Amino acid sequence: MAIKFGPAGIGPVKTALEVLENYHKKGIKACEIAFTYQVYIKNEEDARQIGKKAKELGIELSIHAPYYVNLNSKEKAKREATKKRILDCCRVGRYLGASVVVFHPGYYFKKGKDEFDREKTFETIKQGILEIKGEIKKHGWKINIAPETMGKINVFGSIEEISRLVRETGCSFCLDFAHILAREKTVDYEKIKSLFQGKIWHAHFSGIIYGDKGERSHRKTKHEEWKVLLKNLPKDKEIVIINESPDMINDSVEGMKIYEKL
Ligand SMILES: [Zn+2]
Repeated sequence: MAIKFGPAGIGPVKTALEVLENYHKKGIKACEIAFTYQVYIKNEEDARQIGKKAKELGIELSIHAPYYVNLNSKEKAKREATKKRILDCCRVGRYLGASVVVFHPGYYFKKGKDEFDREKTFETIKQGILEIKGEIKKHGWKINIAPETMGKINVFGSIEEISRLVRETGCSFCLDFAHILAREKTVDYEKIKSLFQGKIWHAHFSGIIYGDKGERSHRKTKHEEWKVLLKNLPKDKEIVIINESPDMINDSVEGMKIYEKL
């Protein structure tokens, strides 16, 4: 088994190459570029240079798509805008040599006052993913999209829902273990292993503050939390773990050190 650790961010384009060098000096082998507020690497040449440098340093890049997406919006214009934002990430991602574009799939349809139409939600999101994958294929891009397990109970993205999307669309996935804990109040590693049998896992991890309804905010990752996660991860997979805590670089380095000693 091999695990690559890294932070969720590379900072501004101007300093990206230096930042990658610094990550490399710390032994970091993965980095997720945060397009969470916008796809801020606009220039093809910049993207290619960042991708080239990352490759030279053995750092695997991934992308986090903007937060403002919802493949299950009632409004067609918003669903189309969502697809466009995710495809914009894929377009830049191919210059960066990124493996996946992680995104938040969407919200549930409501039926009645306090009830969700989970099936209709699933079908709409599945349709959106198939359309995006169709575009990726049409362009011949080597990148996959990865819906993320979500931390709030009223947002689409349980481990069952994400694994079903993987089976029915061939998309990739992002297992956010902090979100899984916040949503389910426990992490059932055996169940996750049986739901996600693919060889390659893309994961997020950090400490998390949560309540009845799930995720409240990310916090620094505790030593003991790293240990529990790393002991329970499968041994026969290639895993990338992106840390999203407020101290993501130091947390990644700490996770890496704990992993080396296991
Ligand atoms: Zn996310």
